[in-house]
Amino acid sequence: MLKLYNSLTKKLEDVKVNKNDVRIYLCGPTVQSSPHLGHGRSAVVFDFFVRYLKYLNYSVLFVRNVTDIDDKIIIKSQEKKISYRELGNSVWNEFVSAHENLNCLVPDIEPRATAYIPEIIKYIQQLIDNGFGYVTTSGVYYDVSKFENYLNLSGRSIEEVITGTRVETEDDKHRAEDFALWKFSKLDEPSWKSPWGEGRPGWHIECSTMISETLGQTIDFHCGGIDLIFPHHENEIAQSKGVDTNEKFVNHWLHNGMLNLSGKKMSKSDGNIKLLNEYIDEYGGEAVRFFFLRAHYRSPQEFNEQLLEESRKTLNNLAEFTNDVNAKLSDDKIIDIFNSCMNDDMNTPKLLGEIFQVIKNTTSLNEEQTIKIKQTVKYVFEVLGFQLKSSKKDIIEDKLLSEFFEKYDIEFSDIESAMTEFIKVREDLRSEKKYAEADIMREDLLQIGLVINDGENVGWYWKNS
Ligand SMILES: [Zn+2]
Repeated sequence: MLKLYNSLTKKLEDVKVNKNDVRIYLCGPTVQSSPHLGHGRSAVVFDFFVRYLKYLNYSVLFVRNVTDIDDKIIIKSQEKKISYRELGNSVWNEFVSAHENLNCLVPDIEPRATAYIPEIIKYIQQLIDNGFGYVTTSGVYYDVSKFENYLNLSGRSIEEVITGTRVETEDDKHRAEDFALWKFSKLDEPSWKSPWGEGRPGWHIECSTMISETLGQTIDFHCGGIDLIFPHHENEIAQSKGVDTNEKFVNHWLHNGMLNLSGKKMSKSDGNIKLLNEYIDEYGGEAVRFFFLRAHYRSPQEFNEQLLEESRKTLNNLAEFTNDVNAKLSDDKIIDIFNSCMNDDMNTPKLLGEIFQVIKNTTSLNEEQTIKIKQTVKYVFEVLGFQLKSSKKDIIEDKLLSEFFEKYDIEFSDIESAMTEFIKVREDLRSEKKYAEADIMREDLLQIGLVINDGENVGWYWKNS
């Protein structure tokens, strides 16, 4: 049985959900600046989770939002002298590319906050009507004194919250701990009409509204980084209870740990923290994905580039090990290891440790047994979203191709353009009736596994096998 740690009850709990209708919400990015490694971790660990539920034959509805309006987006876009939407779209494209390269499943629904403004306004009005919201000259606020279970998720005291709250001069909310539902806009800021005045939604109300609009009042899993517990998720709980006190909001709260960038070689002031897409370019998306598999999703994870390099090598060894088989569930021991580790609060480091132990012991097994292990290891990694293609091979092939085309004075950047040029050189020879030379070129090409067609169907293809 699948057990997961619930951040609200602070216990490992049996997952009891309707397998045919599992609703998951993951707090997605605020599109204000390029994704960093921490964004990658949240996306990947919850992708392991969604993929594992699918492997267990759960029918999943997975929603991850995009926060496309917020104070930071407005400030950044003003600095760059572009619209908030231009900034949001260009940052979002970087996220899309990162998610693709990390092989994360595309969520079933990706709601954008600005597409839900009428619904957000309706939600806020409901909170006001129920006595949880009030209007001032700067906006609409949530009155946290009206919600008795406030801070149950984070376990903070209200005193901590009050001392930790930054008091902004324009705020005229009743108490420091109250939070904004709607902020009236200043001149030149993006704004929407509302019954209380032109403005924009607060961050927390966006998620509450998008959850109730896309998934309904009660959801099975609410996921996000541990840094979102306070204030974001506390405030989401307060809002949902303010709208409907009797409904349960979330059955299981799941939070991923942070990356520890405090190692002496990594500090923001040194400027040597690269962006997520830079690490992906350098090490490959699959190696970055594998790096996240090595830590338990709830634990803090130490990061330095050496660890990414190690991940790439280990992954490459796995790819080499499973290179000659297709994925298949044929070894019971590996299946047991996989199920028991993943059912145990997705203990992926334990999973890796046990699988590598089995691989190490294959030296004492016969070929048939080894093949079964290889097939099942490949299967398990495919479930977790890995393709296990040997990266070493790609590098060698590119190098080989580049050397090959160099002989014909063709610069190799990609196979399509190199072959177009190659064919042109050869066609020129043929038009000069230098058939022998053209034939040598064709045979030469065959050595590296490429076949050329002459005549009407002029073109090329990779030789099978
Ligand atoms: Zn959220």
